[in-house]
Amino acid sequence: MLLAWYDRHRRRLPWRALPGEAADPYRVWLSEIMLQQTTVKAVGPYFEKFLARWPSVESMARASLDDVLRMWAGLGYYSRARNLHACAVAVLRDHGGAFPGTEEGLRALPGIGPYTAAAIAAIAFDRHTMSVDGNIERVVSRLFAVEEPLPKAKPRIQELAATLLGKSRAGDSAQALMDLGATICTPKKPACSLCPLNDECAARLRGDQEAFPRKAPKKTGALRSGAAFVVTRGSELLVRTRPEKGLLGGMTEVPTSEWLAGQDDATAREQAPQLKGLSRWQRKVGAVTHVFTHFPLELAVYTATVPVGTRAPKGMRWVPIATLHDEALPNLMRKVIAHADITLAGGVR
Ligand code: SF4
Repeated sequence: MLLAWYDRHRRRLPWRALPGEAADPYRVWLSEIMLQQTTVKAVGPYFEKFLARWPSVESMARASLDDVLRMWAGLGYYSRARNLHACAVAVLRDHGGAFPGTEEGLRALPGIGPYTAAAIAAIAFDRHTMSVDGNIERVVSRLFAVEEPLPKAKPRIQELAATLLGKSRAGDSAQALMDLGATICTPKKPACSLCPLNDECAARLRGDQEAFPRKAPKKTGALRSGAAFVVTRGSELLVRTRPEKGLLGGMTEVPTSEWLAGQDDATAREQAPQLKGLSRWQRKVGAVTHVFTHFPLELAVYTATVPVGTRAPKGMRWVPIATLHDEALPNLMRKVIAHADITLAGGVR
């Protein structure tokens, strides 16, 4: 029933093989990494861009990490880009450029956790396994009216999802459930009358579909505050590279203070970089806000100029504003730069 529905209604996505075509493990892997915590709509253009630049895992393995980070800029969760590159290198070095075809082999690669390994094994190698994403969680929790809240319910949902696998076409079963969740069994107002599983859906019988999946109350971290310092030297901007390890590792940023809960403006402002000939710091009206997985952040933005010829402080560098778009700038920094009235196309507004 589910597969018959899928054969008629499958979504056309750039990374999917056409009906009857064998799936390409490289495309499946690339899309699965990009889709972690990111929507199909946001991933589409990035996927096409990556594939055009690096059409094979071998070509990506031979690229520099900086190039991969630059191409990834704007997609968020940057550790994925570093792992993507490390994984391509490992596949070329340890497997002769061919992805291993088992979950175990895939999980041994950088950046591939249990979910991604199951997805690649099922979709690219037709292994009898079910990868459970957010869409599938919703469909399964409704079908079986799973009372336990997420995330505790994950193992139970995984078990129940596995019961929906047919004898063959494991990858299609997973993709069918993903499509069902994305197009019919939506978070609000699911279109149950169009659902191929409506006869057997426990939540539909009870009439409380939208109450599933049950969720434990969210714990969000305390608001952190800080300041960002936008210094220009003629048509250049002062930047630095964040440490490889940690949040936004290896990405480009303008200097900032520490980001701390309860930090007041004056303390953040004292951490401004020291440069010779610096004009007075001007505080821009308002602030930049950004929400990371574990905490929200609010940055005050200060701007200043220095004379041409001023040297960058240790660990920092000048980049022409006209080439800023080539830097691996995370979204937070794009917001900061825009808040300082600098456009990435090159120039001050
Ligand atoms: S019947 Fe409705 S709630 Fe149940 S799986 Fe189908 S779309 Fe979702």
